[in-house]
Amino acid sequence: MYTFVTLFGVILILGDYLSDVTLVLLGAGKATRFEMQPKKQWLYSGDRPLWLQVADEFRALYDFDEIIIVSSAEETAYMRFFADYTYVTGGESRQESLSNALAGVSTSYVLVSDIARCCLDHAMIGRILGHRGEADSVTPALSVVDTVYMDAQPVDRSKIRRIQTPQLSRTDILKNALSQGMEYTDESSAIAAVGGSVVFVEGSNTAHKLTTVADLATLPCIKQPSSRTLTGFGIDIHPFEEGKQMVLCGVKIDSPFGFKAHSDGDVAIHALIDALLGAAGMGDIGELFPDTDSAYAGADSTVLLEQVVSKINAFGYTIVNVDLSIIAQTPRLLHYKEPMRLAIARLLGIRANFVNIKATTAEKLGFLGRKEGVAVEAVANLTYFDWTKK
Ligand code: MG
Repeated sequence: MYTFVTLFGVILILGDYLSDVTLVLLGAGKATRFEMQPKKQWLYSGDRPLWLQVADEFRALYDFDEIIIVSSAEETAYMRFFADYTYVTGGESRQESLSNALAGVSTSYVLVSDIARCCLDHAMIGRILGHRGEADSVTPALSVVDTVYMDAQPVDRSKIRRIQTPQLSRTDILKNALSQGMEYTDESSAIAAVGGSVVFVEGSNTAHKLTTVADLATLPCIKQPSSRTLTGFGIDIHPFEEGKQMVLCGVKIDSPFGFKAHSDGDVAIHALIDALLGAAGMGDIGELFPDTDSAYAGADSTVLLEQVVSKINAFGYTIVNVDLSIIAQTPRLLHYKEPMRLAIARLLGIRANFVNIKATTAEKLGFLGRKEGVAVEAVANLTYFDWTKK
């Protein structure tokens, strides 16, 4: 393990002044070429989403002053629940996202990497950081072994370089380069454009970027997701309101009254949404759809449920099963249980046997027994999306 010892030595030597480097991990792209239910940075590798595995591995390798993770606003709000990194909302382009992150960087150097370049080549990162201070940009590059043509003319391939990331930049020069109103595909070309110096270090053939589903087979650092099950619980209560259509689990119920509510008052779907959000650790229905927001006045709760399901799926979860208990003295729900079960299965996109609906009375006790309203309790189980089976 000579290489490891050598690399470890480099890290120790650099350890004293590495805190002058901030790491920026970019993950705000729309990833339209990755055709899978979850966003690619939310695929689970073992017990962690991919973005967290990458950040944790970088943190274990080097003593960065700060690690900044750039993603969409919806994602950063959720990422905060996972680990104590700095989260910044990205922009429309890679460069805009990077600029948003750089606004908060005060160290002399910044190492920029993409979350999608998820399998770290420790030796290459050691080479990049080892050349720190030698130029305004330290950039990994690969030579080209194939014959290269431009239009119909072969060109001298010894002059061709394929540029990779991560790249280490002088923060002030990179900030200046990105403020010139031009778009660049990487930091080294931005720095070169303002006359900064670029030094190339040997890149890595193993540091592939996760772009399409087929790339998963070539990235051994992404482990099979753990088989953990996450359970969530939800409860909701609504009072009756005369002359309103009653809806439970998206099914219209024949009754002289519906439910008093800001939305359509589907108390069963509200309890189910809270169970799903609970399992995913995403807060509650009121945070997602505030009843002070006029956009949700009279809202169709099935639409809210569909939004929650697509969010849960995008963040790497699969719904295993759900179970609901509806506590109603009136109306009688016996004949509605089956249509409700089928409706919920369709909304969740799971097989009908994974949905269970129970109806009970309150034995005439309390506000439910006095027929003042209905209460629903729900339980949901999630597991991590198994991308190995796709
Ligand atoms: Mg409610």
